Amino acid sequence: MNNIFNYPKQELINILEKHGKKAFLATQIYEWLYDKKEYNPSNFANIKKENREFLINNFDFSFIKIEKVEEDIDAKKFLFRLLDGQKIEAVLMYHDYGKSICVSSQVGCNMGCRFCESGRLKKVRDLQTYEMVEQIILVSDYIKERIDSVVIMGIGEPFDNYDNVMNFIKIINDPKALAIGARHITVSTCGIVPKIKEFTSFPLQVNLAISLHAPSDEIRKKIMPIANAYKIEEIMCALDYYYAKTNRRITIEYIMLKDINDSKECANMLASLIKGKNMYVNLIPYNETNNIDYKASDKGQIDLFFNILKQKGIDVTVRRRFGANISAACGQLRSKEM
Ligand code: SAH
Repeated sequence: MNNIFNYPKQELINILEKHGKKAFLATQIYEWLYDKKEYNPSNFANIKKENREFLINNFDFSFIKIEKVEEDIDAKKFLFRLLDGQKIEAVLMYHDYGKSICVSSQVGCNMGCRFCESGRLKKVRDLQTYEMVEQIILVSDYIKERIDSVVIMGIGEPFDNYDNVMNFIKIINDPKALAIGARHITVSTCGIVPKIKEFTSFPLQVNLAISLHAPSDEIRKKIMPIANAYKIEEIMCALDYYYAKTNRRITIEYIMLKDINDSKECANMLASLIKGKNMYVNLIPYNETNNIDYKASDKGQIDLFFNILKQKGIDVTVRRRFGANISAACGQLRSKEM
């Protein structure tokens, strides 16, 4: 049976109509689930018995479970247990402008980035849409507050689970579901070129972030196996196409790894790559982990790198670190639990 949280409104309507039901039933279901937060269809009081039974017999209403929460002043990390026993995680972050959540899109990841804890443990499976939607519902219920923005930057490669992730975005954006504005949703990819092109025609105005992490293919290949499949030039070309079609500014993520990609030359190369494009660079201080040998760049080196980009007229920020006292880096909590 398919979980009810897998369905964007229109898809739910299509299924209901196929079974001879009215589209309005979908509106009622959405009200119960997302507005009244009633997750037991037997309690959907304004829906007639025959339809309640139809729902019970045709859809699964079950939830993944919060298994563990680690709390810090500025962040909370959630470990979830899925219905088949697999574990994933999400991180809630408190910014001055609101609360954001970083959700997982797969159990494990096949991209194998050398610095990343999630990639050390291979992909077990894709997450279904409901498993992403429920991460947000459960965290929001846990803190008893609304979540303002969503980044798909947890465990997994969202463009390797494209259809489920796009349905997830449609649901959380729906004003009658979680009502998270498209501009408050960001999907981050390691740069799967055909999917970047496909994403260009996705109907919602969500943000795109690219984990570039290196200014040359040579360096990129050392830290990201995906670089063997797509050259930086091909990624840039896909991004130009994306920008031409959507007119939306793109975020370039750049993780600062000591003596790997943090030299002056790297900064200069990165600047020439970005110059003149509507992109901004987010420098990410590396979260060191016990299982991986890479070290974080020194603060001074990050400043130097930052200043070179600034001087060259590149829009650049250094990502603030959240949850310094908890295992907040991508995949760390899950990996610790295993
Ligand atoms: N697969 C997608 C999304 C998940 S990773 C992507 O590659 O973008 C989300 C971001 O966290 C990526 O930019 C990734 O490179 C970064 N990341 C992974 N491990 C990290 C660590 N230990 N410290 C800091 N950032 C990390």
